[in-house]
Amino acid sequence: MKIVNYDQLTEQQRELLDAAEKAMEDAYQPSHGYFVGAALLTSDNQIITGWGIEESVHDLTPCAEMAALKEANSQGYRSYKSIAFISGSYDSDTEKIIGPCNDCRQMMEGYAGPDLEVILSTAKKDRIVVTSIDKLP
Ligand SMILES: [Zn+2]
Repeated sequence: MKIVNYDQLTEQQRELLDAAEKAMEDAYQPSHGYFVGAALLTSDNQIITGWGIEESVHDLTPCAEMAALKEANSQGYRSYKSIAFISGSYDSDTEKIIGPCNDCRQMMEGYAGPDLEVILSTAKKDRIVVTSIDKLP
């Protein structure tokens, strides 16, 4: 996997990552303080975003990527080219690059196939990984 910087992304990749960043900023995580945003690019170039939701009663935290996938699906978009993730926290560790969890990964691969492009970024967008879903560790 290659680590790139923001300027090395294509215009469309930058647009997708910026949308994920906006979603991350909208994430509702009052106690965890850890925010994840995802943006899905449909095959007809629509951007659908989602963010992680905190649910304190059952300690469920629906994933950002799952939220984006559900939203896209409910709008009738069921074919995807790319997904961007960005995460940050109130605490120190904003350097972390996170990817989709196993459940979401399988679901996305099921919808989009192994070539789905995945863009993973630090909160500051200074370290970015561009790969395909089947090459994630
Ligand atoms: Zn997930």
